[in-house]
Amino acid sequence: MSRFFNKDHVKLRAYVPGEQPQDGKYIKLNTNESPYQPAPKVLDAINRAQGERLNLYPDTEARALLGALADFYNVPRGWVIPGNGSDEILSFIFLAFADAARGVMYPEISYGFYEVYADLYNVKSVKIALNEDLTINPRDYYAAGRTVIIANPNAPTGIALARAEIEGIIRENPDNIVAIDEAYVDFGGESCVELTEKYDNLVVVQTYSKSRSLAGARLGYAIARPDLIADMNRIRFSLNPYNINRLTQSAGAAALSENDYYARKCADIVATREWAKAEYERRGFAVTKSRTNFLFVSSEKISGADYYERLKRKGALIRHFTMPKIVNWNRVTVGSPEQMRRLFELTDEILEEII
Ligand SMILES: *Cc1c(COP(=O)(O)O)cnc(C)c1O
Repeated sequence: MSRFFNKDHVKLRAYVPGEQPQDGKYIKLNTNESPYQPAPKVLDAINRAQGERLNLYPDTEARALLGALADFYNVPRGWVIPGNGSDEILSFIFLAFADAARGVMYPEISYGFYEVYADLYNVKSVKIALNEDLTINPRDYYAAGRTVIIANPNAPTGIALARAEIEGIIRENPDNIVAIDEAYVDFGGESCVELTEKYDNLVVVQTYSKSRSLAGARLGYAIARPDLIADMNRIRFSLNPYNINRLTQSAGAAALSENDYYARKCADIVATREWAKAEYERRGFAVTKSRTNFLFVSSEKISGADYYERLKRKGALIRHFTMPKIVNWNRVTVGSPEQMRRLFELTDEILEEII
């Protein structure tokens, strides 16, 4: 830290992303990317003609993209805001709807960025423990008296609440914002987008990073009533009105016209997930009921850290967490069937080594 660093941030613990080696040497199952390429039309949309216009700023209103999103989700124009990844949307939510006095509430085991933003923006956070079986008890979030943020399905557990359970949380918090982070909803969760019409305190956050194979393009969005979108846009225009570059706007709109392609890929990933879950269970691992593109696994035969380290040495990357309550668990992205078969070969080698 230099002596010039802002004193307000000296204790800030930045988000630690999963490793991103760029040499292609690892079977990469650590950051929940899709193993499949974007749809062909998406690649066409990032073409030379688009590239030749990179001398011009992108549309601050992202009209083509937001229009396509509004049509896709059957909400009016003006109900959608774009973010440079949904991480940026979460940042808008903190800046727009949480402050030192009101604070935020989220599950103790959830997406690590919530805590980072709470620290960065000096917002008090109340963290609610999960049940013993790693599920969320919706009633713990009733009358929260602060902004509630819930990933549904939750990460890294993979477990989903039903829409009716989330609706209970929204209904029982009429005077605070409830933000539902639906990063993984396309792999079998129930979306709350349709509830945005009914509730004026709901913000639904989604991303192109997982189910639409565009993690590298950085594109997320929120859907909510227009007054909430306007609040978040006030923040967006105060940070970076050009937050979505030209190529990404174009790719994002094109992806929505290729829904059949993505629906098939998501179905493939779900099928691979269920096969891989059974393979883990056959080897004595505990596996949560995932509704996402990852599995959360643990074994009494090997510690979480040891399994992670040994796989890494053999060329496969998964995600290990150091929080004491989940230190024996690992999060394993569902890759292609070939990648997963290799993962189990390596896992079998490891299980042989430790007896
Ligand atoms: C991956 C993820 C995000 C962030 O995705 P972006 O790439 O920033 O769109 C947000 N929330 C959860 C729970 C995630 O797992």
